[in-house]
Amino acid sequence: MNQQHYPFSLKPLTYAYDALEPFIGQSTLHFHHDKHLQTYVDNLNKTLAPYPQLHNKTLEELLCNPDDIPADIRTAVQNNGGGVYNHQLYFASMHKSNSVENHPKGEIAAKIAECFGFYDVFKTKWKEAALGQFGSGYAWLVYDNAKLEILKTPNQNIPPIHCKKPLLLIDVWEHAYYLDYQNRRNAYIDSFFSVINWDKVEERFQFYTHQ
Ligand code: MN
Repeated sequence: MNQQHYPFSLKPLTYAYDALEPFIGQSTLHFHHDKHLQTYVDNLNKTLAPYPQLHNKTLEELLCNPDDIPADIRTAVQNNGGGVYNHQLYFASMHKSNSVENHPKGEIAAKIAECFGFYDVFKTKWKEAALGQFGSGYAWLVYDNAKLEILKTPNQNIPPIHCKKPLLLIDVWEHAYYLDYQNRRNAYIDSFFSVINWDKVEERFQFYTHQ
């Protein structure tokens, strides 16, 4: 889906830094995107620099084929490459919302209804996963074998994306919410529902179901 390779670069946000207020503040976005994500990009490039045989591999190829990565940099590629992959998906999963009522539409809405029943049931299960991720990590909505699934991953791990196709994720590292919500991950997750870019989720869903 994403063909970029070494040297990786920081993709700018597609919305203004204050676009997600009052749900996610502009300071959070500045630190999260410009500092945290930039650091993952820089460290990934630094790690890959001495290994020209890896320079034409996409992020997905690097992350899905750990056996092709020399053992001494495997963990660094997984951590920093996962950090780049997860954050790019995360920032692209949000947009400016004018309303607290921000619901899925289209084919993904129908699939959520089929797999979870009411949207509120999905929200409850998603929130349980995001709250239940002990320490840092992510909760995900993925598409696998004609079904939707919610799962969670620790640290910068990614789901097994060769089968579980990522549609939506929430970053529950403290840096994603501490400036706005301090320790209240609960309140951050509630706010996240207001800024989910369901058009983007629909686009990802159609990409995987129509190919
Ligand atoms: Mn993060």
